[in-house]
Amino acid sequence: MKLEYTAAQRAFRAEIRGWLEQHVPKTPLQSFDTKEGFQQHREWEATLNSGHWGMVTWPKELGGRGCDLIEWLIFEEEYWRAGAPLRVNQNGVFLLGPTLMEYGTEEQKRLFLPRMASGQDVWAQGWSEPGAGSDMAAIRCKAIRKDDHYVINGQKIWTTRAVWADWLFGMFRSDPDSQRHHGLTFVLLPLNLPGITIRPIRQLNGLPGFAEIFFDDVRVPVRNRLGEEGQGWNVAMATAGFERGLMLRSPARFQATARALVDLYRRNRVSADADPSIRDAVIKSWMDAEAYTLATYRTASRLMKGGQIGAEASTNKIFWSELDLLMHETAMRILGPLGELMPEAPQVSDAGRWIDGFLFAQAGPIYAGTNEIQRNIIGERMLGLPRA
Ligand SMILES: Cc1cc2nc3c(=O)[nH]c(=O)nc-3n(C[C@H](O)[C@H](O)[C@H](O)COP(=O)(O)OP(=O)(O)OC[C@H]3O[C@@H](n4cnc5c(N)ncnc54)[C@H](O)[C@@H]3O)c2cc1C
Repeated sequence: MKLEYTAAQRAFRAEIRGWLEQHVPKTPLQSFDTKEGFQQHREWEATLNSGHWGMVTWPKELGGRGCDLIEWLIFEEEYWRAGAPLRVNQNGVFLLGPTLMEYGTEEQKRLFLPRMASGQDVWAQGWSEPGAGSDMAAIRCKAIRKDDHYVINGQKIWTTRAVWADWLFGMFRSDPDSQRHHGLTFVLLPLNLPGITIRPIRQLNGLPGFAEIFFDDVRVPVRNRLGEEGQGWNVAMATAGFERGLMLRSPARFQATARALVDLYRRNRVSADADPSIRDAVIKSWMDAEAYTLATYRTASRLMKGGQIGAEASTNKIFWSELDLLMHETAMRILGPLGELMPEAPQVSDAGRWIDGFLFAQAGPIYAGTNEIQRNIIGERMLGLPRA
C-alpha cells in the first residue's frame, strides 16, 4: 500500500487552498437556522459554485469538477481547515443531486441541477412523519394521482431547514391500498404551493432548524415525479445510500473538531489535568478522528475500484456520531460552567464555539437513521443474526 498523494492530488490541494484563502468570509456567517444566516449561506453556495467548488464530484458539464472520492476527501480537508461555512444546501447537492443524476429525466436534470448547484434552490428532505421515522415504510402522507397532477394530503415532520428552503423532495403514498414500501412515489415540490403550511420547530439551541409541514389538497404536476410511480422506495434507498455512506459527514469535519479540542486542552491544561480522564478522552478523540480518516480513505479507494459500501455505512455512522459526542462532551468538561454560555453571552469568549456543536452532537445518533437501527443493520447484514 502506498500512503502518499500523487503530484496531481497535491496540485489539486494547493488550488483549493488558494481559492478558499481568497474567498472564505473573514467574519463567520450567522447561523443558517436564522433568516439572515440562511440568506448569507445561500450566497456562499453561489460563490462556491462560481469557482466550480459547489460539488466537486459532480460531472464538469453540470458545474462540478468530475473529481474522484480521494479528491473529494482532499477538498473536504481543505474546506474544514479553512473554516469555510457549513453547507446550507447539503440535502440538495449531496443527496438529491446524485439521485437526480441516476433517476431524473433529462428535463428534470436541466431544470433542477444548475439551480441547486448555485444555491438558487435550497432543498429540504421530506421523509419523516409522525409514526414514520425509523419505520419509513409506514409513510401515510398521500399523493393521489388526478389526471396530470398528484394531490397531496397529510403531514411531514423534522424537515431540516424547511422554514426557509425553496423545494422539498419527499416520499408519499400514491396507492392508498398499498402496504409498507410498495405504492410509494418520490415527488419534488416547491414549498410555496397553495395548501402547504409550514410550522417551525425550535431546536435545543432555540432556533427553528426544523419544521413540520402540512399538506391540504396540494396539487403537484406529474412531471415532478422522480422515477416511476410506486417505485419511490427504490429511489429513496439510493438517496439513503448517499446519506449514510461517505458523503454526509466527511472525516475532515471530525479532524477539525479534534484539532480544536487538543488546542482547547492545551490552553486549559492546568485545570483540565486535575482529572486525568480528560487527557485520555482528548487523546482518544484525536486518534479516533485520525483512524476514521484512514478507514474512509480505504473505503474510498475500494469504491473507486468498483466496490460497494453496503452495511459498512452503518458502522461509519455509529463511529462518527459517537466520536462527535465524545469530543463535545470532553470540551464541555474542560470548559466547566463556562461551556454552558450561549455564543451570544457577553462573557463567552471562545467557549461559545462549543455549545452549539455540543447540542447538535446530541442529534448525531438520531438523524440519517438512528444508531439503534444501524446496529440492527449490522446485526442482520454483517453478522447474519436473526431479524430484530
Ligand atoms: C437533527 C435532525 C435532522 C433531521 N432532519 C430530517 C429531515 O431533513 N428530513 C426528514 O425526513 N427527517 C429528518 N429527521 C428525522 C429523523 O430521520 C428521525 O428522527 C429518525 O429517523 C428517527 O425517527 P423518529 O424520530 O420517528 O423516532 P422513532 O422511529 O419513533 O424511534 C424512537 C426510538 O426507538 C428506537 N427504535 C425504533 N425502531 C427500532 C427498532 N426496530 N429497533 C431498535 N430500536 C428502534 C429508535 O432508535 C429511537 O431511539 C431529522 C432528525 C434530526 C434529529
